[in-house]
Amino acid sequence: MSQFSPLIRKLVESLTILPGVGPKSAQRMAMHLLERDRKGAARLLADLQAALEKVGHCESCRNLTEQPVCSICTDEKRSGKQICVVENPADVHAIEQTNSYHGHYFVLFGRLSPIDGIGPAELGLELLRKAVADKTCEEIILATNPTVEGEATAQFIRQMFAKQTITISRIAHGVPLGGELEFVDGGTLAHAFAGRKQVN
Ligand SMILES: [Zn+2]
Repeated sequence: MSQFSPLIRKLVESLTILPGVGPKSAQRMAMHLLERDRKGAARLLADLQAALEKVGHCESCRNLTEQPVCSICTDEKRSGKQICVVENPADVHAIEQTNSYHGHYFVLFGRLSPIDGIGPAELGLELLRKAVADKTCEEIILATNPTVEGEATAQFIRQMFAKQTITISRIAHGVPLGGELEFVDGGTLAHAFAGRKQVN
């Protein structure tokens, strides 16, 4: 990369922070933006800046939104009697695509992983407790990924609410062990939802 000027080198380096983008792709992106699409590059810059400034977390479910409370939590056609706990915003998107769920969500932004310093506080579990109380939630659907850490997280949340009269269910059928929700097709995911099992 030494043939590039310092500013280009810096740009290429910055682009490699994106998932799945190695030095070669980053070079191609930088060249494309500088040589062929400076207008597009300016738009990208403006959009990125606006998103960084305005997109935050929903006060109720932690999902990404530019409102204090997100459009799902404020949708009158949906009910907070069911709260589906997922690891990432991409999981919310995947479940929404199935059109088979009309409750609320809670986004953990990760899973319990003591080795990486991710504990209950990092996952906002006190906010989950508050959401469950505020929404007089009747069922928590644990839709964390069926990985070792995802299962441990589901188990932890199940214990958190062990003393309450609330149904806790875990999505089950069709989601492959070790798989990630966002990569499961809609039909399988809808089936996994319908086949969830009460775990408390
Ligand atoms: Zn929300």
